[in-house]
Amino acid sequence: MQFKSTQAFIFEAVDFKDFDKRVVLLTKDFGKITAIALGAKKSQKRFGAALEPLTQVVASFVQKPHQSMVRLEECNIIQSYTTMKSDLERLSYGCYFLEVMATVMPQEEDASGQFSFLISFMKALEKTKNATALCRLFEARLLPMIGYEPVLKHCVKCERKIDLLENALQFSTVSGGIICQRCTNAKRIAQTLNISKDTVQYLRRMMAKEKGLSLNEKHIRELKQILPSFLFYHLDQEIKSFDFLENVIGNSKSI
Ligand SMILES: [Zn+2]
Repeated sequence: MQFKSTQAFIFEAVDFKDFDKRVVLLTKDFGKITAIALGAKKSQKRFGAALEPLTQVVASFVQKPHQSMVRLEECNIIQSYTTMKSDLERLSYGCYFLEVMATVMPQEEDASGQFSFLISFMKALEKTKNATALCRLFEARLLPMIGYEPVLKHCVKCERKIDLLENALQFSTVSGGIICQRCTNAKRIAQTLNISKDTVQYLRRMMAKEKGLSLNEKHIRELKQILPSFLFYHLDQEIKSFDFLENVIGNSKSI
């Protein structure tokens, strides 16, 4: 029996059997883990508000050999992210960030890089005035981190460098990057999306972690067309909170 402690985000906490809760945590030191919080369904006394999703905690748990679930012993709140939780738009983006990270995070192994990435975006979400732009930055920076960086330096078909290409380009999720007009026309490539050279250059700067970038509406609109679909294609999994974002937040905004 091993006693362990780590920083974590609560991803999900659902009622389990008569008295308990089953809690999924995204942790710094052990990746994604599933824990049982004994008595948490019946009484709030032991864990209080610490099991609320999107809360950053220090979690202590006991792991027994050959058991898939660990036993949560203690959970202390570090940051509740109250600004995010009191605003539907920010909250929806927070759920999206968390669900994407839950999909890419390894199980039961060190995930400190991914964990600090998640914290930095949750903190930014508390303060930002433009959650949509922040979301595109989240996707742009996540892709290289998980090994799915699109080809943006040259056309994926003819390999002509971007500096030599025309302004109106295409992006192909399946081909993995940008395609020049000449190749699009000549090779009759299906299912491409319009993207301007200017936005592609901007995306490269976002991926290179350049500071002080400010996205204009055209960048945001074009990146919205390509980044989520490229990410989901590689994750090969449905991200439910994105549909919610589209239906609830997307309909109330122009971008
Ligand atoms: Zn080409």
